[in-house]
Amino acid sequence: MKAEILCVGTELLLGDIVNTNAQFLAKELADLGIFVYYQSVVGDNSDKLKKSLEIAFSRADLVITTGGLGPTKDDLTKEVAANYFNKELILDEKSLNKIKEYFECQKRKMVEGNKKQAYFPKGSIILPNDWGTAPGCIIEENKKTLILLPGPPREMTNMFKYYVIPYLNKYQDGVLISKVLRICGIGESHMEDIISDIIKNQINPTIAPYAKQGEVTLRITARANSKEEAENIIAPIKNEIYSRLSEYIYGEGDTSLEEEVAKLLINKKLTIATAESCTGGLIASKLINYPGVSSVFMEGMVTYSNESKMKRLNVKKETLQKYGAVSEETAIEMAMGIAKEVGTNIGLSVTGIAGPGGASEEKPVGLVFIGLYINGKIKTKKLNLKGSRDRIRNITAIRALDFL
Ligand code: ATP
Ligand code: MG
Repeated sequence: MKAEILCVGTELLLGDIVNTNAQFLAKELADLGIFVYYQSVVGDNSDKLKKSLEIAFSRADLVITTGGLGPTKDDLTKEVAANYFNKELILDEKSLNKIKEYFECQKRKMVEGNKKQAYFPKGSIILPNDWGTAPGCIIEENKKTLILLPGPPREMTNMFKYYVIPYLNKYQDGVLISKVLRICGIGESHMEDIISDIIKNQINPTIAPYAKQGEVTLRITARANSKEEAENIIAPIKNEIYSRLSEYIYGEGDTSLEEEVAKLLINKKLTIATAESCTGGLIASKLINYPGVSSVFMEGMVTYSNESKMKRLNVKKETLQKYGAVSEETAIEMAMGIAKEVGTNIGLSVTGIAGPGGASEEKPVGLVFIGLYINGKIKTKKLNLKGSRDRIRNITAIRALDFL
């Protein structure tokens, strides 16, 4: 099946907003194994929109549009689609009632234009919008399928996941199974280098790397006649990836670094306390994301000033004078200090320069030291990060958890 993405909205053409809808749909369709050769953007203009539909259907069997389903005059995707397929627009009572309910619930007044949102091209499959007012729809005609989705990303992505994926799966042969590997401590391009021969020319399963702040995920997707068969296709590839990246893979599926770290600490019955400077409590906050961590996480301190490092953690004045607050030596004393002060097995510390100020030639923005004390042993790590203050703080917190 060949698909095409068509995003409708003059604000997209003018560059006022970023086309995140196209990005989301492209990725989702790739994961489903549906080929997308073209994506385009058109303004809120009925002639141009109709022309775009004609072009899209000359190249693809499936076209997905986003935007233009709202109540105002410039929202005209449904009208143009009905015109393109030569179908009349018919009122759907169920949708109208839902829209009425939505407005009652929000204690807002429904305008006449909202009624327009309950009209659909005759014979279409209606996609309820449980996240807003504009329902979408699917029109099938002569082996061509048009799926209309609203513009607001939250509504569009949820409707896609809940209604469109099950619909599209019906049209695909067999089942589609994905395994997600979660990776930390290595950059996306470096990781791709290590497994480039595996990724290359891979059709079944497909392997899709995806990077977000401080982390990389690798999605392995297989299509087969049964779940078992799909898992058998994935297994050897997954094993090969593990053999090359095992030190960086921290988990699989719906998990997070803090969850894996917390589980490990609970399993090993190791208590922990944190002493943070540049991250200002981010590490503690991440750990506390995981319910159940209270049996091992004892205390987190934000020791931002030199005075606080000395007073609360017993960092020596001489250490701060000789090496500075951002140094391996200070990180070590902070980690030992917090573990001793709170009486835990583990003390984890970070001290660094998040910028934009406070840097010097030998200590640039992004220089960070992590200190780790575990039952008498000390380990440290030095990071040289790049980017904004936010990014440096966030990545430091992630790398500290990874180090742990
Ligand atoms: P509404 O009921 O909100 O009018 P709609 O289906 O008519 O919904 P649009 O009017 O086209 O959708 O877009 C509504 C808002 O959704 C836009 O102002 C924009 O903020 C966001 N949006 C629309 N299209 C995109 C897109 N392709 N990528 C990201 N955001 C988008
Ligand atoms: Mg609109």
